[in-house]
Amino acid sequence: MQNLIGQHDWLELLDKLESMHTLTEAEWVALIDGRTPELSEELLKRARRTCDEVYGKRVFIRGLIELSSYCRNDCLYCGIRRGNKEAVRYRLSNESVLSCCEQGHELGFRTFVLQGGEDPYYTDDRVSELVGLIKKRYPDCAVTLSLGEKSRSSYQRFFDAGADRYLLRHETANEEHYSSLHPEGMSAAVRKQCLRDLRDIGYQVGSGFMVGSPGQDAKRLAEDMKFLESLNPHMVGIGPFIPHSKTPYANEPGGTLELTLFMIGCLRLMLPKTLLPSTTALASIHPQGHEMGMAAGANVIMPNLSPVEFREAYDLYEGKAHSGLEAAENLKAVINKLSAVGYEVVVDRGDSLVL
Ligand code: SAM
Repeated sequence: MQNLIGQHDWLELLDKLESMHTLTEAEWVALIDGRTPELSEELLKRARRTCDEVYGKRVFIRGLIELSSYCRNDCLYCGIRRGNKEAVRYRLSNESVLSCCEQGHELGFRTFVLQGGEDPYYTDDRVSELVGLIKKRYPDCAVTLSLGEKSRSSYQRFFDAGADRYLLRHETANEEHYSSLHPEGMSAAVRKQCLRDLRDIGYQVGSGFMVGSPGQDAKRLAEDMKFLESLNPHMVGIGPFIPHSKTPYANEPGGTLELTLFMIGCLRLMLPKTLLPSTTALASIHPQGHEMGMAAGANVIMPNLSPVEFREAYDLYEGKAHSGLEAAENLKAVINKLSAVGYEVVVDRGDSLVL
């Protein structure tokens, strides 16, 4: 029986993706545009099987500490963009971050992710000092930074201070699309250069994109896949775009659960060894988002370890989950929920197998 999508037989495309871990841009477009429930089901099944072969049923956890809601940037999709005058702004002190780490360590976290807007208060000296303090107190833990675009020398300083990993989504590999999502002065080329610098320095690097961002189509997703194939990052974070009412994209449609899961499955087959988080955005659009992400080949979750009183202020998009199962203090409930469907949440740094 033929399974034709356009010029292609989709079973042949899946076979090629699974065995060679690559597709051409045209093949990606055919697969994404031509997807059917049947194709999707087969893709997700193979993606989960691949994850089982590489990482087993183990799920890695990261404690997410949202360092600052101040941002000098004005990204059109983001709720903490500079232009949102109604955003509540806060920044965490070193003491506050260290107490988050203490609580996280007790809960079983061995990776702390410091994420924030591009806040000029956090100078290279301050970031390096903070990284050093955490590494000194918790030498068994990995420190991940996600603080946006910096110069190569700043990235080098953070690395020398002990930072192990850096998360910087490329957002979209297409220059024109990138320009439409970001203010003047920001470019896909600079973003990509930052990622290459980070990789060169020796960080474990995470990249990624939003699914369904305004202006995205199969062709642009295909470009994202080709870019990620060439970067070969240690982790790829993708989640649905979710509109925020105080941004220019307030009335744009959000990304769908269906396409997000499909793209997670595609990523697992293209980059079998990469870490794939089942993101907060995914969990924010569906109560079973995490389990569905795992079933599509994801193997990381990043519960929120920020001080409870600031969680609401790190308001990237409408309905961002930060309580219940997204809250680090409820880790036990997450462990129970995931173990009920066969996964094992582990106390481990959870390093990527990508070299
Ligand atoms: N400033 C750092 C940076 O640029 O990488 C880290 C913080 S930034 C807010 C973290 C991520 O949130 C972005 O990479 C973006 O993909 C995601 N994000 C922002 N607004 C979003 C929205 N409306 N829907 C879904 N994800 C969003």
